[in-house]
Amino acid sequence: MPLGAIEAGGTKFVCAVGLPSGELLHQTRIPTSTPQETMERVVAFFRAHQPLAAVGIGSFGPVQLNRDSPRFGFIANTPKIAWRSFNLLGAVQRALEVPVALDTDVNAAALAEARWGAAAGIRTFLYVTVGTGIGGAALVGGIPLHGLTHPEMGHIRIPHDRTLDPFPGICPSHGDCLEGLACGPAIEARWQTPLSMLPGDHPAWTLEAEYLALACVNWMCTLVPERIVLGGGVMQAHLFPLIRARVRDLLNQYLEAPELAGELDRYIAPSPLEGRAGVLGALLLAAQAADSGKLAGG
Ligand code: ZN
Repeated sequence: MPLGAIEAGGTKFVCAVGLPSGELLHQTRIPTSTPQETMERVVAFFRAHQPLAAVGIGSFGPVQLNRDSPRFGFIANTPKIAWRSFNLLGAVQRALEVPVALDTDVNAAALAEARWGAAAGIRTFLYVTVGTGIGGAALVGGIPLHGLTHPEMGHIRIPHDRTLDPFPGICPSHGDCLEGLACGPAIEARWQTPLSMLPGDHPAWTLEAEYLALACVNWMCTLVPERIVLGGGVMQAHLFPLIRARVRDLLNQYLEAPELAGELDRYIAPSPLEGRAGVLGALLLAAQAADSGKLAGG
């Protein structure tokens, strides 16, 4: 029986019906407006393609993933005010009456990278998306790492030399955390230029590579992943050699592993699933929910 997949994003919901093989049979994009309006259209799409064995959701965050919490499956303290305290998991469950699995959009995307993408065959790795925000997932032994809540790797603190870069950062909570300095809107605000208008040799990219390399080194020293997959709209091809070179310098041969010798071409890898990782990951969550036959939460 087909599965339902929802990539719930801040600007759009990508909904698909597909098979565990990753084949997508039907797909639609629904703008993220109010929960009522958006969910009405999401539910209508899936009702048109019933029966479904289960539905998987990869959601924008923060989202409550602690199964013991009475607010399990609720959107938490998001800047999208209308969605605060919305029971996303419950809304889909009640409307479609099938098992529903929920995880973050980045955790879902990481599952897809492990199955079909840049981390195929690798069990412990990081998937980080750099776009309108910065989000990271750690798969540990093939399973997304969940602690008290999901990781917030985009909000780590990195060195910020205000004489070189006086830009204060745009994170509403922290100012100059990694996301505040290095997400797409931060780059555009610092240089007062749309991303697409910044040429490849613009100093914006050297600075961006510096910040992302500092973050990679912090994550590497913390978790020693087998690979780091970088996706998202900011991650243009010319950034990768800059990041790899700075990571090599900053690490200074401190972590010893054959994977970290040489140019890091395979170690710091682009996502070949760009644009599809989220919805494919949601499909994998749905497959897990169908297999377990119960309400799964990652
Ligand atoms: Zn922050």
